[in-house]
Amino acid sequence: MRKKYSKSSANYLTAKADFFSSNADFLNKAIKQNKFYATQPKREFCKICEASLPPSVDFVSHGVGYIFCDDCRHLNGIYEDTKAFVTDLYMSDEGIEYASNYIDEQFEKRAVDVYLPKVDFLINTLPSKTNEILDVGCGSGYFVYAALLRNIR
Ligand SMILES: [Zn+2]
Repeated sequence: MRKKYSKSSANYLTAKADFFSSNADFLNKAIKQNKFYATQPKREFCKICEASLPPSVDFVSHGVGYIFCDDCRHLNGIYEDTKAFVTDLYMSDEGIEYASNYIDEQFEKRAVDVYLPKVDFLINTLPSKTNEILDVGCGSGYFVYAALLRNIR
């Protein structure tokens, strides 16, 4: 039997320190975005499977209602992701502000502190000839970047 232990949580606390120090700012920003989202037309069909959504809201968070699709169980916001909303959320300032949430001066530190140990775990666990990893839904690419640091495509 092989036992593996994770890394210290200190890495997370330093890499995401702004989640604690800037919580009020992030919350205000999210509430502002939700207020705009709530001005969009109501969503009638599931975003994933396009089944008709039930009429009742399952829960409300930060001013926005959410509905689980009866067919696929996807959790849908009750409003449409209109082009105006997506543009406001992702493209204002040519996307610079949105991207700054993910790619900043802490990117490499997060990749090394948080994701490189995961890559090392895989290197020590998977068959020795593994030299390619597919990271489905790779988010901001931290894991992909960490894999490249170990010469894994
Ligand atoms: Zn669905």
